[in-house]
Amino acid sequence: MKKIFSIILIGITVIINAQKNAYYQQFASYKIDVDVDANNFSYQGKQEITYENNSPDELKVVYFHLYWNAFKPNSMMDQRVSSQGKNGDSRLQQNGISRLASIPKTEEGTQNIHFIKQNGKNLKFDIQETIMKVELAEPLKPNSKTTFTMEWDAVIPKQIRRSGRNNTEGIAMTMTQWYPKIVEYDYDGWATFDYIGREFHAPFANFDVTIKIDKDYIIGAGGTLENPEEVKGYSNSSNVLADNQNKATWRWTAKNILDFAWAADKDYTVDSFTIVDGPKVYLVYQKNDKTIYWEQSKPYIEKYFQLMNATFGRYVYPSYAFVQGGDGGMEYGMCTMILGEAKKLEDLCGLMFHEGSHSWYQQMLATNESMRPWMDEGFTSYAESFVMDRLFPPIQPQPNPFVNTINNYRKFVKSGKEEPAVWLGDHHDDGKAYTFSTYVKGELFLVQLGYIVGEPALSAIMKEYYQQWKLKHPTDRDFMHIAQKISGMDLKWFQHYWINTTKTIDYAIKEIKFEGKSTTVTLINKGGVPMPIDFSILTNDKKVINYYIPTNLTHVWKKKDVIGDFKTLDYWAWTQPEYTFVIPYPKEQLTALGIDFSQRLADVNLEDNYYEVKDQKLK
Ligand SMILES: [Zn+2]
Repeated sequence: MKKIFSIILIGITVIINAQKNAYYQQFASYKIDVDVDANNFSYQGKQEITYENNSPDELKVVYFHLYWNAFKPNSMMDQRVSSQGKNGDSRLQQNGISRLASIPKTEEGTQNIHFIKQNGKNLKFDIQETIMKVELAEPLKPNSKTTFTMEWDAVIPKQIRRSGRNNTEGIAMTMTQWYPKIVEYDYDGWATFDYIGREFHAPFANFDVTIKIDKDYIIGAGGTLENPEEVKGYSNSSNVLADNQNKATWRWTAKNILDFAWAADKDYTVDSFTIVDGPKVYLVYQKNDKTIYWEQSKPYIEKYFQLMNATFGRYVYPSYAFVQGGDGGMEYGMCTMILGEAKKLEDLCGLMFHEGSHSWYQQMLATNESMRPWMDEGFTSYAESFVMDRLFPPIQPQPNPFVNTINNYRKFVKSGKEEPAVWLGDHHDDGKAYTFSTYVKGELFLVQLGYIVGEPALSAIMKEYYQQWKLKHPTDRDFMHIAQKISGMDLKWFQHYWINTTKTIDYAIKEIKFEGKSTTVTLINKGGVPMPIDFSILTNDKKVINYYIPTNLTHVWKKKDVIGDFKTLDYWAWTQPEYTFVIPYPKEQLTALGIDFSQRLADVNLEDNYYEVKDQKLK
């Protein structure tokens, strides 16, 4: 009896523990109604949000983002831009001075909350600029839902960053992060990151958005337009349905996206086409002689989606819109806002495909960008380099698609300004250090991983990551779990060195000794990051022979890689400074020897990585 009791107890404990650690995600459904006063760049908003608490925690408060409150003099964003000076984002500055400091009173961004109610009861709220804390009337129990209703009015800010009125290319309204958005709650707690111009995060949500605006405007948005016949630009019908104020009503819906963004302009053209095995694509832009590349981008966009689907997993939404707006490029649910003018087709496509790739690494695989910016910007940059290499192959063939990124990394490391990629995105003081640790080091995280585990294993990792985590909120731990499982390798050390530190990789050839029929090579680890070593020789008859020296840290060795066949040598213990091995080729047969012919290894000092057998004539 006692034994049975303890077995039952163990069983219950196991179940409770399993529940405690089980993954969950919150969910929101927004029904938003806005009435835009286009002449005054303002709008009245109402929304009803059904919020599902799927966490095991009882919630006594909820938080909302009020991003537009950042666009005024002396806001936190202004303070940040001012204190960063020349090291900050140049788009937010004019002659080194914050552009936010001079926003006129009438153009300050505002989200003025009239009330918020929970199931009809008025709630107390407290606003700290871009974050609103709301005390619930009734605590929200685990696995239950509640409904919030809210009314507010908003002033569309002067265009400084992403959102705003009258951008540099003359787009009237870029409406991004424009409504009070519920903050993501997960195992990391509330993602209450103040908006200072960097990344966004949110729970997945459904949207049903009604926009009333002067009938002459055309809207571009991420979502499905439910009434194309009643508005301008989306159907052959010339009967725009206007009310007595001369306003048309647009109704947009979207499912399972992080945010709903739109832009409006009287001079937009709407172009669309459906991709075989892909989404319906919308191009919403001002058609003129500065935007000629939009038309030419279509066949590239088609190949882009096909390539992404095949390589990184299927795009799950029915459509995607490239909308001219904003101040550069920024990703949103089912759309991006990008500047329309470009010097060449390749530049426009590069921007389109960077932002488009965030549909994978930000929307579908929705990591917390403020906490782990290297995962969304880095993985997106990896996809961008991969795709651009295929669609716009360089004139001079490159050994791999990431060579330019690796060279940029080497240059930046020499500046001594690098900061660890593990830092919270908002807290990098130096704008360049932020860019390098997130975009560049994040991209190279995958390049180095491919070098360690082999490209076929990396490709399997990316597909499995998508399979397990699409439409969820993965963390770095979830990604590494898959990487280790598929490769069989221990990879914790690599994440630690690459993401948590600014240590660098620096291997070198210390000595080459030619001894009769063989050659003895001694390599040295001069850097701070241990890595496996691919070593190759080029023979006089132009054959490349590859050797692979595993690091003992992985405990399992790579089986296949892009370099072709290789001979696996004994492992190199990470504690051991030097490594000597013999290759069965005499000097007379050798043209060159070196570390990593594939040029994927982000070794910071290449000068001592290659050895040319000088007095040997090429055959
Ligand atoms: Zn990006």
